[in-house]
Amino acid sequence: MLKLPIYLDNHATTPVDPRVLDAMLPYFREKFGNAASRNHPFGWAAEEAVTIAREQCAQLLNADPKEIVFTSGSTESNNLAIKGVAELYREKGKHIITAATEHKAVLDPCKHLESLGFEVTYLPVDRYARVSAEQVAAAMRPDTILVSLMFANNEVGTIHPIGEIGKICKERGVIFHTDATQACGKVPVDVQALGIDLLSLSAHKMYGPKGVGLLYVRRKNPRVRIAPIFDGGGHERGMRSGTLNVPGIVGLGKACELGRLEMQKDHDYVFGLRERMRKRLFDELDYISLNGHPEYRLAGNLNVSFAYVEGEAMMMGIKDIAVSSGSACTSASLEPSHVLRAMGVGEDAVHTSIRFGLGRFTTQEEVDFAAEHTIAAVRRLRELSPLYEMVKEGIDLATVKWSPH
Ligand SMILES: *Cc1c(COP(=O)(O)O)cnc(C)c1O
Repeated sequence: MLKLPIYLDNHATTPVDPRVLDAMLPYFREKFGNAASRNHPFGWAAEEAVTIAREQCAQLLNADPKEIVFTSGSTESNNLAIKGVAELYREKGKHIITAATEHKAVLDPCKHLESLGFEVTYLPVDRYARVSAEQVAAAMRPDTILVSLMFANNEVGTIHPIGEIGKICKERGVIFHTDATQACGKVPVDVQALGIDLLSLSAHKMYGPKGVGLLYVRRKNPRVRIAPIFDGGGHERGMRSGTLNVPGIVGLGKACELGRLEMQKDHDYVFGLRERMRKRLFDELDYISLNGHPEYRLAGNLNVSFAYVEGEAMMMGIKDIAVSSGSACTSASLEPSHVLRAMGVGEDAVHTSIRFGLGRFTTQEEVDFAAEHTIAAVRRLRELSPLYEMVKEGIDLATVKWSPH
């Protein structure tokens, strides 16, 4: 029996994998020590667990364990990377390059730096939400100190040409940060091969717990330095003070290990379901469009706009399915999607866009239910739409003269 509601919002957060939870539980119970306690076995057990987790995280990224700084999640990691570089390299320059489609956890720190006198270039994206390495190269100036571009977009799933961008940054001696929150555990992320200097990752987007993540900080070729945000006990080699969240870090480590070992299997499974759903929607409905890149795209992402339906009515019509919408009413910011707008998606298509986010625990039964109910809701709403009626009759809406009343 299908259990409602169905969770198709895996870009917002993911359920904790039972294997991750099992790994964490002893560190809430008998192994509750502080990893910084050097004088007794409670501390040693906690420190040993953190060491193992650090190795698991490093292995997912092809990094050295010494390059991992544990944080509270990607919002903190992005702040630490961007503000930390700005503070330490301000003598070298005050110019930063990012893109219009970044997460607020990158855009807002950049805005903050602008208020302190830094200059930020927000690269425009193409209609698939992609930037090119040429664009990045063209935006570089002698005073550019940082490029921050996300690995994969959280709304439309588009994957940037990260390796090409990393190469340009290396050639120009500019530090390259990537917010890889949506990509880690989903697609191969190799900081060496891709020339990444700083990378943000969050456990709860990859079947781990909320409130824990990491910042990868390159130690050689080149050695990257960041100023800390918190002053305190000097944990994490001075880059992030604060008692380590040992159970959370253990969970993050386990999530990284599973992400590495099961990446291909997860990818193939989720991609199969995504394509099943996409084909069904596009076979059975007209006037719908895919948002994001058809090819350079996360396997679990299906973002679609449905013309001639009203956005809010659409969300109400599929309320047994937990999804996100590009319209204002469902987002925390109370603004329509800045990502879809930057891609040049029209106002109506923004408001009728729905992000289906599939994951490791999504079933075929759930996807079939979601497709069926989405199709039914769209048909029902279009029956009420005079515009859809006119379009079906072959009237070109652009030529219609609307009379005032
Ligand atoms: C979720 C997300 C964040 C924020 O991560 P938290 O760990 O929840 O702070 C940042 N960037 C992207 C791309 C995300 O998807």
